Amino acid sequence: MIVIFHPDVDPLGEEIQGLLSHLSVFPEIKTMVHHVTGATRTLTEVHLIGKTEMVPTEPIENRPGVERIVRVSERYRILGRHKGQLEAVGFVYNGLTFDQESIHVFAGLCAVDSREHVEKTVKALEAAGIKTTRMGAYKPRTSPYEFQGHGKACLPYVFELCGKHGIRVVAMEVVHESQVDEVRSALARAGEPTGVMLQVGTRNAQNFELLKQIGQQKEFPVLFKRGMGITLEESLNACEYIASEGNRNIVFCLRGVKTHLGDPHRNLVDFGHVPVVKRLTRMPVCIDPSHSVGKRDRAPDGLLEIQHATAQGIIAGANMVLVDVHPAPEKAVCDGPQALLLDELEPFLEDVRIVREAYEKRKAAAQPKGRAAA
Ligand code: PEP
Ligand code: MN
Repeated sequence: MIVIFHPDVDPLGEEIQGLLSHLSVFPEIKTMVHHVTGATRTLTEVHLIGKTEMVPTEPIENRPGVERIVRVSERYRILGRHKGQLEAVGFVYNGLTFDQESIHVFAGLCAVDSREHVEKTVKALEAAGIKTTRMGAYKPRTSPYEFQGHGKACLPYVFELCGKHGIRVVAMEVVHESQVDEVRSALARAGEPTGVMLQVGTRNAQNFELLKQIGQQKEFPVLFKRGMGITLEESLNACEYIASEGNRNIVFCLRGVKTHLGDPHRNLVDFGHVPVVKRLTRMPVCIDPSHSVGKRDRAPDGLLEIQHATAQGIIAGANMVLVDVHPAPEKAVCDGPQALLLDELEPFLEDVRIVREAYEKRKAAAQPKGRAAA
């Protein structure tokens, strides 16, 4: 059961405290308080966990400040939309809004290899008006003999250069909870010039201890990448591990799934699932065309296959795109063959704009007359 309070209720005020003491007569019911700050609405939700059928709803509905009560299923308890009963409020981080309406392009290096390449990349992003990037410092690799990332050694110059060139949020994978502390300290030492969205990679999609640790901090939002060989339901449940520890600022990323039928692409593009994730959960949805397609091949129509895959996600309502770019892909230490060249960035962004506009038109056309989009 979720008790939703009116937006103007003070999250630390007596309405919330009053409900918690009202519920204390049910010792077997656990409560969790979530304060949700979205772009247009800030609200407080109190989640009741346990045998909530024993809790009469009427006295709660009549309590001061309560807007409504939603009975929820076990599935995606915190992140679920529960058959459309809950809206996707999203979250604001470092001045940017992430919700099921917004769109952001995170273009950058799969793996940070040198200061020079970081600088060239963020300069190109600034010129293109982009404030979000990806920079891999900790790389989970298939073979232990492959480059594992520069780790904390590169963080000072990555954060400095991102701040200098107007980057507000850097998506950065962590593979161990100690790296969250390394990121936090490096940001503090650099004077907080930018923000970080912690990425959980596909290989860690069911690393429940890592998910719990990441969920216990609320400072950094999380970019969760779908497990490549598990069901969508299992991946969404993994996100509940993060949310149930307290952090629900999560973006869900589709990055293709592993199947030999995906050939000649690196993974089978699964961007048809964008609207499904938006229907089932309140999370904004990201697509990663680079790790899905895996190559910079150009189709006979002149568009890169990565652009075609991106368009499939955007036309379906994706809220974020994670895309590899590199100033010299032939020198990249990781995933060079799939990185866009810097001069391919502008045409890529133009294509994103065209398709997003088409999506907006499709959405408007689908509304019953006189009703705005939900
Ligand atoms: C990445 O984004 O750098 C990455 C390793 O992706 P994935 O976890 O989806 O393979
Ligand atoms: Mn990669």
